[in-house]
Amino acid sequence: MTTYQASRTPVHKGPAAWSAILPGQPAPVPLPGDTTVDVAIIGGGFAGLAAARRLRQLDPTLKIAVLEASRLAEGASGRNSGFMIDLPHELTSDDYAGHGDDRGMIALNRHAIAFARGAVEDYGINPNYFDPVGKVNGAASDTADALNRSYAEHLTSLGEPNERLDANGMRDLTGSRHYVSGLYTPGTVMLQPAGFVRGFGEGLRAAGVGIWEQTPVTAFARQGSGWTLTTPKGRVSAAKVILANNGHLESFGFAANRLMHVFLYASMTVDLPADALQKLGGEPRWGVTPSDPMGTTMRRIDVALGGNRIITRTCASFLPGMEASDTALRRAAAVHRQKFADRFPGLMDVKQEYTWAGHLCLTRNAVSIARELESGIYAATVCNGLGTARSTLTGIAAAELALGLVTDATRHFAAEAQPTKLPPKPFSTIGANIFLRFKEWRAAAE
Ligand SMILES: Cc1cc2nc3c(=O)[nH]c(=O)nc-3n(C[C@H](O)[C@H](O)[C@H](O)COP(=O)(O)OP(=O)(O)OC[C@H]3O[C@@H](n4cnc5c(N)ncnc54)[C@H](O)[C@@H]3O)c2cc1C
Repeated sequence: MTTYQASRTPVHKGPAAWSAILPGQPAPVPLPGDTTVDVAIIGGGFAGLAAARRLRQLDPTLKIAVLEASRLAEGASGRNSGFMIDLPHELTSDDYAGHGDDRGMIALNRHAIAFARGAVEDYGINPNYFDPVGKVNGAASDTADALNRSYAEHLTSLGEPNERLDANGMRDLTGSRHYVSGLYTPGTVMLQPAGFVRGFGEGLRAAGVGIWEQTPVTAFARQGSGWTLTTPKGRVSAAKVILANNGHLESFGFAANRLMHVFLYASMTVDLPADALQKLGGEPRWGVTPSDPMGTTMRRIDVALGGNRIITRTCASFLPGMEASDTALRRAAAVHRQKFADRFPGLMDVKQEYTWAGHLCLTRNAVSIARELESGIYAATVCNGLGTARSTLTGIAAAELALGLVTDATRHFAAEAQPTKLPPKPFSTIGANIFLRFKEWRAAAE
């Protein structure tokens, strides 16, 4: 009998701040006991929820269970910076320009964003949690400004609108004098990621999909023509299974030594008091990605998203064990305080209320895994850094594959190469961490 045993289940370090700042977290709903479904989905992030919605669209009679190890929005899908980006955003390049068919990728990213917009409309998700305002690539030095210029040229050659902001424009937007320039692009949607994910899950639940939280899948085994999944709360028999569990695909033995488990870190301030808000100035909501992909992402939100707060995201570590340490979290918190102070010296006294880590899964050759792994088992995994849009797309594609459809999304992932192998450990770990630190150092003020 073919059995896949989980060698580990997710450990989330630091609070899921985006969820913590929202009111009305409903009680978790674990699997009530043994059940039989048509499709079981492991993981309730962007990929898993998108897969469930797509299955429902294609066949409303399907019985579907989403099995989530923790709470909705506790995993990476509720721990990110909330940029749902339509454009090439290649983290391994110097300026985000893609390496391949950028026009094709932009069309697919927009397809994923439109699909997410459909969920917002159908499930009555608060529109503030899905704000199509665009984003700015901020530059803090002449070198970074040159990266922005080359990215702008690339976008213009693709026919993509973009607009340059000067230092004053950046100050008017952010209240910070840190930036020498910025590049505005209109197509990014800014999410309140936990609000969006929780609303998505609640909408699916109301539509009859089983969304089961605190229900880790510890094993699955072939039984007849289908599969039986084991959880601490009961067994789930399913004709088909979609693995939408991000890097934990490898915890079940798939893609061994081919996935790079990178952890990113972020901090969020307290709700800014009135005097700090007055000192800050600028617009009440904005998002600035760094013009150097290894720089610092900053975001300002307002009361409609959970308070007047600023979120700082920087630092990355390569962790094959898939668990961030307390030491790494403390180091990141110190770096975040410094980056925040560099940008907002007038707000030195403002405390960071939350610091957290989250799991990002990459492959060396920047491919995702959205295909049939073996009969009746499909993957919707590996976002390569652009997980809000890409994981949504892998979820859509896995659902379509499971129902035997061929679409632009399934063709895209079918045409991708297999993920390339990583160098043997410990060289891969040491090498990757040195590389990440070097890139962070080179990104300097960005
Ligand atoms: C700090 C940070 C900032 C980021 N910023 C951005 C950004 O601005 N824009 C962007 O596009 N991306 C960003 N990302 C990346 C993005 O968050 C992820 O790529 C995305 O969440 C991946 O979605 P997913 O559904 O594939 O995986 P996940 O969100 O990780 O969901 C997988 C789920 O599977 C569950 N799971 C795992 N194993 C099991 C099991 N055995 N049984 C049951 N459930 C299981 C996990 O608990 C998890 O909830 C950021 C990430 C981090 C950490």
